[in-house]
Amino acid sequence: MRARLVAGNWKMHGSRDSSRALLDAIVAADVACAVCVPFPYLAQASERLRGTRAAWGAQTLSEHASGAYTGEVSAAMLREFGCRYVLVGHSERRQLFGESDAQVAAKFSAACEAGITPILCVGETLQEREAGRTQEVVARQLEAVLRRGAIGEAVVAYEPVWAIGTGRTATPAQAQEVHAFLREHLTADTCILYGGSVKPDNAAAIFAGADVDGGLIGGASLIAQDFIAICRAAEHKG
Ligand code: PEP
Repeated sequence: MRARLVAGNWKMHGSRDSSRALLDAIVAADVACAVCVPFPYLAQASERLRGTRAAWGAQTLSEHASGAYTGEVSAAMLREFGCRYVLVGHSERRQLFGESDAQVAAKFSAACEAGITPILCVGETLQEREAGRTQEVVARQLEAVLRRGAIGEAVVAYEPVWAIGTGRTATPAQAQEVHAFLREHLTADTCILYGGSVKPDNAAAIFAGADVDGGLIGGASLIAQDFIAICRAAEHKG
């Protein structure tokens, strides 16, 4: 059976106190999951989650190993904090910080070389979907990474840009269609997550897709009971 995963993307939200409360709730619920926290909370996450069913990770990393790159964080640094995962190519990084397909691919390689599992995010904008270009866009984003090497143990997250933080989610059929397409380019056992306005009330229906192996959760990952309910929906997938 393919691995299942529900990963929270906290983005640039929270405080030390709210972070502690969220981590405590996740530990108390004893759910299998991962949380991708802001860099300053990595130490806290590693202390609180070590030895539990929850893994932790970061939301981006540098493609460089070290050097004069002010403000950047290397894969080796993330490794020191026990990160198991790192998001790569989130649409906010691509759109707001100008990350290109090539840069995303370099970050992907840097994570793999450090033994950290990248969660590669791909997805189309609304304009691209309406122009019938969804497959072309996600294939291009994926190919940029595959050109550099195998996908290996990495996780792929299909995140339609129009569904992120908008409350507008892909239908289960739309999600499954793109996941099935992605799987044709991946190995049979690659874990493919869906992300985009997943909430407790739509999680089970989305996760029911044959090629949907879990979710990447933004807003709902900041609300303990919602995130835990989504993790349970993935665990209960038949
Ligand atoms: C995300 O940021 O990866 C995401 C899926 O956000 P949301 O769940 O809030 O749409």
